[in-house]
Amino acid sequence: MPFAAGGPTDVTARILGEHMSKTLGQQIEVKNIVGAGGTTAITHGAQSAPDGYTIMIGHMGTHSAAPAFYPNLKYDPTKDFEPIGLAVGTPIVIVARKDFPPKNLKEFIAYLKANSTMIDVAHAGIASVSHTTCLMLTHQLGVKLTEVTYRGTGPALIGLAGGHVDIMCDQIVNLVERIKDGQIKAYAIATPARSPALPDVPTTKEAGLPDYEVSALNALFAPKGTPEPIVARLNEALSRALDDPTTKKRLLDLGGVIPDSQQRTGAWLGDFVKAEVARWSPIIKAAGVLGP
Ligand code: ASP
Repeated sequence: MPFAAGGPTDVTARILGEHMSKTLGQQIEVKNIVGAGGTTAITHGAQSAPDGYTIMIGHMGTHSAAPAFYPNLKYDPTKDFEPIGLAVGTPIVIVARKDFPPKNLKEFIAYLKANSTMIDVAHAGIASVSHTTCLMLTHQLGVKLTEVTYRGTGPALIGLAGGHVDIMCDQIVNLVERIKDGQIKAYAIATPARSPALPDVPTTKEAGLPDYEVSALNALFAPKGTPEPIVARLNEALSRALDDPTTKKRLLDLGGVIPDSQQRTGAWLGDFVKAEVARWSPIIKAAGVLGP
């Protein structure tokens, strides 16, 4: 698990791990190894014995954005893993501390443009989802904010709710309860349709920023060379967890999007990772954040 406890990736791992443990008859222990936007844990996982006893939860950061940010990355997301399956889709929500002045997304955009030097954006490290997706946002708006790095967006969210940082772009599964409780403010969800978990939050399109649409995901991977029957068993345990009514409801209540049957295979995930690496690299390079 590549980020601190309590964040979206951790919560997904724990919810699914609980049910998968029952199917597998083995307790899945979630081990948080933080650092370098999640790539420290994935490097460690990629180099672990391919025996099915070490698997990883990765996401659009570790397995799509990371190669563009880290030229010396010690793994290749497209080659060094046996993809197990997509765990959950996670729309991105633009959020801020509860007393951040703008009242809606249009005001938010104007406020960022007028006050960029005074605004802090929280994220979970270079190449993390929160970093990459807010970078896309600020690049589109032509502003540069002050970045504050946390060990995961679980701790970042505590900073946001405490008013220590101003804004964040985060995976929905971390946010629903705090938005509903009014501990943080949500400006828009970056998907074509509203989320049933946050029906009052407008889409970016509705709120005036139609070009900002982005979703992330969490997915399970095994080290390269893990025997196919083991990967198949893990895939089946994941799929059973996703179909279990209680587990499914927990993920849906958090705003997670459950993969459909076509998206459940390792082959689908492998193809998706290849397409996403190819899609993200130019976007990140265009954002002009990389060295020459
Ligand atoms: N997945 C989050 C991110 O990449 C971090 C976390 O799960 O804590 O921003």
